Amino acid sequence: MAELVKEMKQSITPKRGAKPIVEYKDVYKSFGEVEVLKGLNLDIFPGEKVALIGPSGSGKTTIIRMLMTLEQPTSGEIIVDGTDLWHMKKNGKTIPANEKHLREVRGDIGMVFQHFNLFPHMTILENCMTAPIQVKKESKETARERSVEMLEKVGLGDKLDNYPSQLSGGQKQRVAMARALVMRPKIMLFDEVTSALDPELVGEVLEVIRDIAEEGEMAMVLVTHEMDFALEIADRVIFLDDGVIAEQGSASEVLEESDNERLQQFLYRFR
Ligand code: ADP
Repeated sequence: MAELVKEMKQSITPKRGAKPIVEYKDVYKSFGEVEVLKGLNLDIFPGEKVALIGPSGSGKTTIIRMLMTLEQPTSGEIIVDGTDLWHMKKNGKTIPANEKHLREVRGDIGMVFQHFNLFPHMTILENCMTAPIQVKKESKETARERSVEMLEKVGLGDKLDNYPSQLSGGQKQRVAMARALVMRPKIMLFDEVTSALDPELVGEVLEVIRDIAEEGEMAMVLVTHEMDFALEIADRVIFLDDGVIAEQGSASEVLEESDNERLQQFLYRFR
């Protein structure tokens, strides 16, 4: 089994020579007086699966929220598929990005949140169809077809007309994943997607993430406390501590072989 997983990982590990799909260049982020990120430099490659781990408050969620345009960096650049996310050119000058620019670049990115963020007044099919119709201007028929396909993929093909309140937490989270997948993102961000779930519902959500990961095409960034899961699916694990990358490498290098003291202290509570 371990051999099989290793082989699978190698087959989806990106070529390091490939052009990154995301580049963080010297990114700083403060909230008021608190400096959360202190010069983040990070390249993520097409198809790469990256797990972000680290103590609470170390800036993991902020890293992915900046990519989803939900937080703005204090300084530095975030480049998505060659385009500067937070800046644009006008008359030869670099100026802050406007809403239209942010929306366009963000089109490549999907995110799944800890607390699902589904629209409560819509059925799960409508939840999935909204963005393709409104953002991508797809026809209702195309959006419906693709939404049904994605809801079937996450095992909810029989719940299309249910409302979120009629579903379990695990099912809601699977809807959230289908809703993101409908948009065909090149990059998927997962923000502690299992931490609000009852323990018995975690498995079904990880199973869907595993399926998506095995398809291999999308880059995935997971903020997670599921260390076994990170070990299983991540091509690279990044340990954040006090606003910087304190350790990174393959999952086994970081989770099993590193002698970084802060990392050891952090991992100790998962043993
Ligand atoms: P992690 O995901 O590693 O737990 P976060 O990125 O959520 O860390 O948060 C890092 C720090 O930034 C924390 O101290 C948090 O309180 C602070 N923070 C995050 N978002 C905000 C915000 N919108 N306003 C003020 N402080 C924030």
